[in-house]
Amino acid sequence: MGLLSLGTPLHWNDSKKYADHVRANGVIQLLNSYKISQGRENDKFYWGDEIEYMMVSLDEASRSLKLSIDHDYVLANLSEDGKNYQAAVDNDVLFHPEYGRFMLEATPLKPYDGTSLGDYFKVENNMHRRRFLAIKEIKSENVYPLTLTAFPLMGVDDFCSPSTLAKGCASKSLFLPDEIINKHVRFPTLTANIRRRRGQKVAINIPLYKDKNTRSLDAADPSIPKRELFPYSDNEPHLPAVNPAAKPGHIYMDSMGFGMGSSCLQVTMQAKDLGEARYLFDSLVNIAPLMLAITAAAPVFRGHLADQDVRWNVISAAVDDRTPFERNEAPLENHPLYGGQTDVEVQKSMLRIPKSRYDSIDQYLGGTEFYKSSYNDLNAPINKKIYDELLESGLDEELSRHFGHLFIRDPLVLFSERIEQDNETEMDHFENIQSTNWQTLRFKVPSQDSVPNSNKPGWRIELRPMEISLTDFENAAYSVFSVLLSRAFIHYRFNNYLNISLVEDNMKRAHHRDAINREKFHIRTNIEDSGDADVQELTLDEIFNGSKERKFKGLIPIVRDFVSVEFGENANPDDLEKLGIYLELISGRASGAIPTTATYFRKFISENPDYKHDSIVSETTAFDLCLFAKKLSEYNPTTVMQFFGDNIGNWLIAHGYSSIFSKPA
Ligand code: ADP
Ligand code: MG
Ligand code: MG
Ligand code: MG
Ligand code: MG
Ligand code: MG
Repeated sequence: MGLLSLGTPLHWNDSKKYADHVRANGVIQLLNSYKISQGRENDKFYWGDEIEYMMVSLDEASRSLKLSIDHDYVLANLSEDGKNYQAAVDNDVLFHPEYGRFMLEATPLKPYDGTSLGDYFKVENNMHRRRFLAIKEIKSENVYPLTLTAFPLMGVDDFCSPSTLAKGCASKSLFLPDEIINKHVRFPTLTANIRRRRGQKVAINIPLYKDKNTRSLDAADPSIPKRELFPYSDNEPHLPAVNPAAKPGHIYMDSMGFGMGSSCLQVTMQAKDLGEARYLFDSLVNIAPLMLAITAAAPVFRGHLADQDVRWNVISAAVDDRTPFERNEAPLENHPLYGGQTDVEVQKSMLRIPKSRYDSIDQYLGGTEFYKSSYNDLNAPINKKIYDELLESGLDEELSRHFGHLFIRDPLVLFSERIEQDNETEMDHFENIQSTNWQTLRFKVPSQDSVPNSNKPGWRIELRPMEISLTDFENAAYSVFSVLLSRAFIHYRFNNYLNISLVEDNMKRAHHRDAINREKFHIRTNIEDSGDADVQELTLDEIFNGSKERKFKGLIPIVRDFVSVEFGENANPDDLEKLGIYLELISGRASGAIPTTATYFRKFISENPDYKHDSIVSETTAFDLCLFAKKLSEYNPTTVMQFFGDNIGNWLIAHGYSSIFSKPA
């Protein structure tokens, strides 16, 4: 997330008048940057991660668990201009705003050097310092920054501290008060404008897990309140709605915060030039669903056990601003914008859009010796005008399609002070579209001043699907693995292409409960071959650990080989030991020997004495779970052994992890 512009945000009705203006100028800004930076070369392989936290209040005496929404001073104090910003800088970290008022995001101050093995092992210590600083900054004893993918009680009764009711005009949610949203005006405006563009509240329906005492999946959900306050939005099944928003047998959620209020792990990497960036992007397209599946950490939403393990489609639906026409659904009866006959003119200018602006990537970037246009077999709509303009300006077919597809979206938040921009020096109109296309990968473009000033970032790829894990040890392991795998791909120049519709299918499978043991994923096994893809369906164990029978080496063995070729004899033994334990974690997760966070949570909940096997996660059960998560994130010896098993547990204890957070200074 870049710096937040201050100013006067426009209501959707005003902002939409400038949508074409933003796109037209955004594309000029892109072209200005492209002209300069297409020839940028020999950049270093830098990389950096992003961690998102939620501040959670745990009261052991009453087993009470709340989401803490009045500690946003923590972010203010640690951000630039904040009174403790220097402490962040001294610790080589940076804090950033996030969607939730209960959230923090933190990154390293400067990216790491991916060409030095030693630099890979700075990330974990850096993550510890981020968490440590946040802990020090929080004034309440009971409040702790957890790296929890989804807050299990989000939207359940009185889940916030201080207590507040759902009554907000930004989201119009039945469950989430607007007070959970970051107070910076950008965030409530984003929430409201998504809802306004869509014509009604967002509707998220996640399959409910069926346990032995779960209510009939055909029955209405008694936890959905009745309300007839907001026309078109209060469209739950109690009303005689044509197309009720809440589906039976599902966990229903109705607000952006259910998605953007979840936490994830992201990694950004810089390629040496545009060509390498395109190769890396395409190579990671099918790695994204695999990283989602192996990091699965979100089996509970709105106090209910879900029949899936990850957050991804929750966020996707939580920011789905498509109109009924774009979604290929019936018009909203009598709606001023989208009500049947009245919207014919509006609809004429609209495309049918198969996916939300938060979703998996729709097309390869191409530009490599292995790419064939037949691999891009999804029908991703494009903004034809923008696409033509890019083609005419010298971008090739695939790059023009990539941006042409991003530019089908409208800008969601526009500040009246920022409508006119200098297209020679500014990129905000471009970034407005780019940074609200939340896909599994982001192709990050350099700014216009990136040449000849090489201190500015070059061409970068951001890997965005991973769920956040409870410990910095795990988050570091997944970051380091993703980056080393990327470097291995670049080094060996493997051919990772397969039809992108199969990647789409992998993305669906990655959501499934216990995908590690119950799913197979499409993967190209002949990665050393420039010809057609030999695609097989493999388990995550076979994909990560390799399979002789399927003739697939495995992602972990690829990383091991690369490390020995690249760093060989000069490698520091402590670094290699650390890498070994990271790979042991990932290997164990892939084989099922170490349960995923989601699987562990399910078992924890089902064994909790308060759980009635009715798929409902009570506050006391959620409290026990989050207390466990807190202890684990501090590497409490007992929880570490329970969660990771003997090998990794003993290693962490022997290496002094249990005392890292024990002396708050
Ligand atoms: P966003 O939210 O837009 O993805 P952030 O600033 O939160 O951006 O995170 C960007 C990540 O990219 C950080 O970890 C940062 O250290 C890293 N980074 C910054 N510059 C570079 C670079 N030149 N190459 C690679 N990574 C970089
Ligand atoms: Mg960020
Ligand atoms: Mg961001
Ligand atoms: Mg973020
Ligand atoms: Mg987020
Ligand atoms: Mg990011």
